[in-house]
Amino acid sequence: MASARFRFHDELADFLPRERRGIEFSYACARAATLKNAIEALGVPHTEAGRITVNAAPATMQRSVREGDAIEVYPWETEEMGSDPDFLADAHLGGLARFLRMLGFDTLHDHAYRDADIVRLAIEERRIVLSRDCELLKCRDIACGCYVHALKAEAQLREVARRFALAAKARPFTLCLRCNVPLDPIEKRRIVHLLPQTVAATQESFFHCRGCERIYWPGSHYERMRVALGRMLPGSSASSPPP
Ligand SMILES: [Zn+2]
Repeated sequence: MASARFRFHDELADFLPRERRGIEFSYACARAATLKNAIEALGVPHTEAGRITVNAAPATMQRSVREGDAIEVYPWETEEMGSDPDFLADAHLGGLARFLRMLGFDTLHDHAYRDADIVRLAIEERRIVLSRDCELLKCRDIACGCYVHALKAEAQLREVARRFALAAKARPFTLCLRCNVPLDPIEKRRIVHLLPQTVAATQESFFHCRGCERIYWPGSHYERMRVALGRMLPGSSASSPPP
């Protein structure tokens, strides 16, 4: 056993019992525990932790905890994220997955995924796992994940957008909401026979999904979604008028 002092900063405190929030506390770690082991034993998935210092020096998750260590853990920072993120939303986050696809972010989601599928896809396709399941996010093979605190899909989108700085990267209405594949422009004359009469009479620009054959156009439904997305994600191209 090694007894160390821990302090978790900012929103990481949400994972702790009330009496440990915002203060330094002592904790006796299991023999040969690494920082990852200790941080997760205290309730914080490793995917949520960013910078860690031990006795004021930077440390990695693999460092072992030694007697008397003073350990500070800070939340994950947006700057640590590279370019366009790809996501994998767990079975309970269908609404969030749909919003992310509307904004053009590649997001896998299937009610049938089991934890093992999620871990495998996260590794193979280097995806960020979105989940409200702390135990899933503690899996060491998940390199990048995000615990979603909010319960409602709109608030979940705001939370994920803030963490991954999505507003500037959004490309709204470029992915099929059903299949998560990029939409291709298609000439009106090729699909006009498939359209409702009012749409054929009023719309000129169309997009096609080669996965499910669905046809998309910027109609009134699109306009309502655009306004809703703009409200949830101010500063994104979803909040500016369509070209
Ligand atoms: Zn499709």
